[in-house]
Amino acid sequence: MKDTAKHQGLRNQLVSTLEQKGITDKAILDVIKKIPRHLFLNSSFEDYAYQDKAFPIGAGQTISQPYTVAFQSQLLEVKKEHKILEIGTGSGYQTAVLCMLGAKVYSVERQNELFKQTSILFPKLNIRPKHLSFGDGYKGLPHHAPFDGIIVTAGAPFIPQPLMAQLKIGGRLVIPLGEQVQIMTLLIRKNETQFEKHEFGEFRFVPLLEDKN
Ligand code: SAH
Repeated sequence: MKDTAKHQGLRNQLVSTLEQKGITDKAILDVIKKIPRHLFLNSSFEDYAYQDKAFPIGAGQTISQPYTVAFQSQLLEVKKEHKILEIGTGSGYQTAVLCMLGAKVYSVERQNELFKQTSILFPKLNIRPKHLSFGDGYKGLPHHAPFDGIIVTAGAPFIPQPLMAQLKIGGRLVIPLGEQVQIMTLLIRKNETQFEKHEFGEFRFVPLLEDKN
């Protein structure tokens, strides 16, 4: 579990790339500069960890591209102490970004292998999500609701109703919507029944799968 000056140099370059691509939130760029992304990947991909690309992480899943992580985090407008629900823990990299931004993070993953991997990895990196769970993200986490923000990191064919219900008034839900290609979508909860919808162009994610059981 090494983090070297070379890795730090590559991270600085990655942050410049993200700035060039339009990421402006200083707090987000700052945490990306700090988090050792290579430790979230299989060691055979170590050399690629600081390219702005998605990579396989096992169980047929991918770690999101850094630009996508930064873009979604920016839309979420995370403040310190915000309670954030993440659907799709995956490698845990996005989870780490949210934790380092000061959020209380609740994350759900439906692949047991990945859930176990991240449960071991986070303490080693001194990253402390509030709650990690193995289960179906379509249902959210009703026992821990409501949330200031919800982020879905897999492509969803529709907006799961439970996630809308678990959002605070004023809260933000960031979700890539679509089957082959996804439109990044932001919903802001205005009151009990109304949500404002904004769309932000095309992204590609692995699918948000319904429960196997
Ligand atoms: N944020 C992660 C993204 C991983 S890809 C990262 O950057 O590493 C999306 C993840 O969503 C995968 O790990 C996949 O297993 C998970 N996933 C898919 N469907 C799900 C569901 N219904 N509930 C919870 N997680 C799900």
